[in-house]
Amino acid sequence: MYHFFIQAYQVRGDSIKIEGKDVNHIRNVLRMKQKEALSVTDEDGVEYFCEIQKMEEEAVWLSVKDQTDVSHELPAEIVLFQGLPKGDRMELIIQKAVELGIHTVVPMETRRCVVRLDEKKKETKCRRWNAIAESAAKQSKRSRIPQVHSVVTFQQALQMAEGYEAVCIPYEQTKGMQPLREFLAKLKPGIKAGFFIGPEGGFEEEEVQLAAEQGIVPVSLGKRILRTETAGIALLSVMMLQLEE
Ligand code: SAM
Repeated sequence: MYHFFIQAYQVRGDSIKIEGKDVNHIRNVLRMKQKEALSVTDEDGVEYFCEIQKMEEEAVWLSVKDQTDVSHELPAEIVLFQGLPKGDRMELIIQKAVELGIHTVVPMETRRCVVRLDEKKKETKCRRWNAIAESAAKQSKRSRIPQVHSVVTFQQALQMAEGYEAVCIPYEQTKGMQPLREFLAKLKPGIKAGFFIGPEGGFEEEEVQLAAEQGIVPVSLGKRILRTETAGIALLSVMMLQLEE
């Protein structure tokens, strides 16, 4: 069943008015027909199970058949601080992080990032990345659309992570799995947690030290070197299993 996101004002009694770019998507891309079923979620996380009632040029009217406020979100806010990877790897990282329940993805410029984006490119990429997040949120039936933040420096990322209840920085020089286990033990419903993943070239030791001075714990993700696009997904999977209710 296709899934869309709406604002609560679009709900009119037991009808819902779809407007904007989703109208074209429903009519001309998915070629949906009257009476076909779909679900929508509003910004409060209420999910409505609907049928298409009427198609107009600028609107699609749905009739609400049922609704639920059971959330599809993780019970904690998890933020991925991701070193800018090469090529279109960021799109894969965002897509998989959204499926696994991420709250926010923060693209980060670190010392060993090969990719250097000018302001215009950053804006274009950020729009593209947020579209990827919205599409993945629809596919995975999230209750909200995770945000992809604008590109920040490593220093800015450290400042953003100030005050989180649990933050780690996977660093392949870390010995043993105990630091990761202690990080995972901190994950409880209601907290804000974060993790830093380096680009293909990894973190400079100095960056890891700066993070550690702020209480961001270096952790190992095992005896193998994971690609940057694997590392975040691997860690987020374990965090999701720890938190999911
Ligand atoms: N510097 C690494 C090397 O020796 O080839 C490459 C960095 S790895 C491709 C990218 C990022 O994934 C790292 O910065 C780290 O955050 C994470 N990572 C990959 N494997 C890891 C491991 N075994 N333990 C902890 N972090 C890991």
